[in-house]
Amino acid sequence: MPDIPLWNKCNNKCLMCANTAGFSRNASGDYGLLKQAYRLEKYLCGAGAYRKNSRTAGAWNLTGGEPTLNPDFIKAINYFRRRLEGEELTLLSNGRRFSDPAFAAAFAEAARPPFILAVSIHGPAAAAHDGVAGAKGAFKETLLGIRNLLALPAAPFLELRVILHRLNYRRLAPTLSFIKRLMKGRRYRVVVMHYEIEGSGAGNGKKLEVSLSATARQVDACARSLAGFGEARLYHFPRCLLKPGLRRLAMVSLPPEDRAYPPACAGCRDREVCVGLMKPYLLRYGAGELRPLPLKD
Ligand code: SF4
Repeated sequence: MPDIPLWNKCNNKCLMCANTAGFSRNASGDYGLLKQAYRLEKYLCGAGAYRKNSRTAGAWNLTGGEPTLNPDFIKAINYFRRRLEGEELTLLSNGRRFSDPAFAAAFAEAARPPFILAVSIHGPAAAAHDGVAGAKGAFKETLLGIRNLLALPAAPFLELRVILHRLNYRRLAPTLSFIKRLMKGRRYRVVVMHYEIEGSGAGNGKKLEVSLSATARQVDACARSLAGFGEARLYHFPRCLLKPGLRRLAMVSLPPEDRAYPPACAGCRDREVCVGLMKPYLLRYGAGELRPLPLKD
């Protein structure tokens, strides 16, 4: 289902953000509640109103910028929840505004299930996280936001994401351990993903560049840790780069228009259940890392 940008500004400046600087310069008036309602009603009538993922099955993604900065945020969550009754909604947020307990409570009240709040953790400590988020104090506020939500009886389901790039991929093991301690005794999901070469993620290429083989090796090295999560997923990883025991965690995490299957994939037994390569990644790195899986072992 479509990506719906709820707001175009952000209080973080994440190095690997997939948005362009131009997006944040759009007039914020375009993201107010009335405009949001107009676009959704148009979409529900069958007219194209959203740019990304509009033909893909699955959850509705409420994105940004940072959606919680929208002055109409709580009203917008109430509106989308009511209008898309029973549909799974996923809100992508840095979680910082939930450090205000009253705001967290109003959100939890509005975000009735099926609703997932996805928050990214960039490292196991403030310096590592804030360095990637480009905002001092972001880690502290994000954690406080998560704790405030966890203290509420009606908190939405939490998905904690670790987006890997050159600055943090070697810290995957301590980051996963940190998340386990933070969420001890809770039901949640962890997602480990390779960053996308888009927007700021493309502009900051010199700082971020790392191959899928390198991040997949770190993921492989964390296989035991990943097995210790109630639910774990891997996004944007070609299955042939992962050890066999982890392939079941690898999701087809991108819409068809963003995926590429180079000629090597044609004879691979996992072609139909694999995400392949991200198109910008294929352009930058080629397909030399892929090792098609034989039809029979
Ligand atoms: S060869 Fe292609 S289809 Fe097969 S696992 Fe690798 S990326 Fe996926």
